[in-house]
Amino acid sequence: MTSATSDSLRVLLHFLQAKLLRFRSRALLRAWQGMQLRRFLRRSLPGLPYYAQMRGRGMAALPIIDKQVMLTHFEQFNTAGIPLADATACALRAEATRDFRPELEGISVGLSSGTMGPRSAFMVSRRERLKWAGIMLARVLTPAMIRQLLMGRQPLKVAFFMRANSNLYDTLASRRIDFRFYDLLQGVEPHLAQLQEQAPDILVAPSKALGWIAGAQLDGRLKLAPVRVIAVAEVLEPEDRHLAEQAFSQSVHQLYQCTEGFLAYTCSHGVLHMNEEYLCVEQDWLDEQKTRFMPVITDFTRRTQHFIRYRLNDVLRVRQQPCPCGNAALALEAIEGRSDDILWLVATDSQTLCPLFPDAIRHAVAILPEAVPDYRIEQRGRLLHIATQGDDRLAYECIATALGQVAKRHGMRRPECVQSAFVSSAPYTKRRRIVCVSRADVSKPDCVADHV
Ligand SMILES: [Zn+2]
Repeated sequence: MTSATSDSLRVLLHFLQAKLLRFRSRALLRAWQGMQLRRFLRRSLPGLPYYAQMRGRGMAALPIIDKQVMLTHFEQFNTAGIPLADATACALRAEATRDFRPELEGISVGLSSGTMGPRSAFMVSRRERLKWAGIMLARVLTPAMIRQLLMGRQPLKVAFFMRANSNLYDTLASRRIDFRFYDLLQGVEPHLAQLQEQAPDILVAPSKALGWIAGAQLDGRLKLAPVRVIAVAEVLEPEDRHLAEQAFSQSVHQLYQCTEGFLAYTCSHGVLHMNEEYLCVEQDWLDEQKTRFMPVITDFTRRTQHFIRYRLNDVLRVRQQPCPCGNAALALEAIEGRSDDILWLVATDSQTLCPLFPDAIRHAVAILPEAVPDYRIEQRGRLLHIATQGDDRLAYECIATALGQVAKRHGMRRPECVQSAFVSSAPYTKRRRIVCVSRADVSKPDCVADHV
């Protein structure tokens, strides 16, 4: 058997497993996770130096860690003992040459696409890549696509727009899948001709790029007919979603895939489900009503780099009703962004700071009677700096008014706003529209301009 055939068989095996591994009851899903976790901790913990003193402990007795801890002790969390400096150097070489194939000791390495804070690296072995490909295909492909993949005349065509490619994503390329990477470092425009020539069945891109592609389709510069449109890598902004839905006459699906793993995906009903068949998710609640949390993940599936009780900086909003698809895996209403995208405003009836979640702001702006151009909102102390594309004064005033209204509705005082100059970001950088640089100092009630 050739290695390509055995790889395809392995992907198929994981694909079938992922299709069969579906739980309709939370209790059964929990029982499956418990069994996998015990096996994982028994097998993997002894090989990880970070947990040398913690062998034999159950998951609840292990420390919750974050990105900083992971970066500081990087080599202690991977079974290959690869230090962060080596992983970063390998990934940076790939970024510079745009050749994403080289491996480090047989392990593929990539960098996180985040623009804030220190960069983190991800590492996957060849076997993990094949497993990932099987699970990913099981999550994304519709029955019609599976038929095309197995029996169609043409291969299934996937267009993938991203800042960087990786061996991980390239695993999907095969005789039956025409997987093309479109490098966002060059922007979107230079790729339009090739994209039209490929005429993808599946279009995958970050929200901002997806909005541009949808714009080109609406302008008549593209005539694509994808069967599925998927947003990845950054928060799906309402207007990008709307443009893509208009341009391609279908709802936009989402994949929540990051350095830390493949965390969630939308089901056939368009509802995001956490990938709980392959990882455990603990909820670090951000509000008393338990509507939003930061996920603390334990991935019992990966074998090279380990994430055990690892807290992500993302804010996820839970869905209140069960999903009609019947899948018991945790359903989300939205991925709202990072925890430092939350603005902190003073409560109406006290001097305490309350969180104003980015989704509430996006919604308030999206429902403004006048469409507003691209914008940024940055909190610096008590002041909200608002920038609008083209430094549009009217749009600034509309957003400031919307912020006042949304604050009032949430029992907070109207924030003080100032207009700041709009700076366009490069197409390959991750867009962050709403950022809290620093919170207000409530011990100084009359001090307005406590900038950093
Ligand atoms: Zn569902």
